Amino acid sequence: MKQRVAIDMDEVMADPYEKLIRLYEEEYGIPIDRSKLPGRYLEEVVHPDHRSAIRRYLFAEDFFEDLLVMPDSQEVVREMQDHYEVFIVTAAMEFPDSFGPKYRWLQRHFSFIHWRNYVFCGDKSIIKADYMLDDHAKNLETFSGEAIIFSSPHNAYETRFPRVNNWQEVAERFLSNQ
Ligand SMILES: [Mg+2]
Repeated sequence: MKQRVAIDMDEVMADPYEKLIRLYEEEYGIPIDRSKLPGRYLEEVVHPDHRSAIRRYLFAEDFFEDLLVMPDSQEVVREMQDHYEVFIVTAAMEFPDSFGPKYRWLQRHFSFIHWRNYVFCGDKSIIKADYMLDDHAKNLETFSGEAIIFSSPHNAYETRFPRVNNWQEVAERFLSNQ
């Protein structure tokens, strides 16, 4: 039987970061100091009066519709499917309007993944698989299989999990011995 891999969407397959930064800079005309991003969330880097803006963007109906695809993720996930059972696990319930956009985004950019392998959930501690690939330590902490952290500015100083910095490194970890 193939081993199961649970792969997160945001900041792993899809890039919400660049869009959030662009929306913020367009609205307020204040450039985000990217040197302050490592180890912090975007909300902690923007002007204190504007913190709620980030969540406002995330709650917008179409926010997740047109996110950029992370480089190489399509090719690597496609190849991973030959050797693993791949599930896309995304905490979509926090942003209810993200459900349709996320579903369509997957159909558009990862059409080779069957919808049966989509898991739109609230709390990821319910997930059981052999591997979990996620940018959030809080999701990895409760996982019973092998937890792997995907680099994102906010997790730059997290040291508890093996780390991959990009999809080439995901390929090395999951496909080099296949
Ligand atoms: Mg994520």
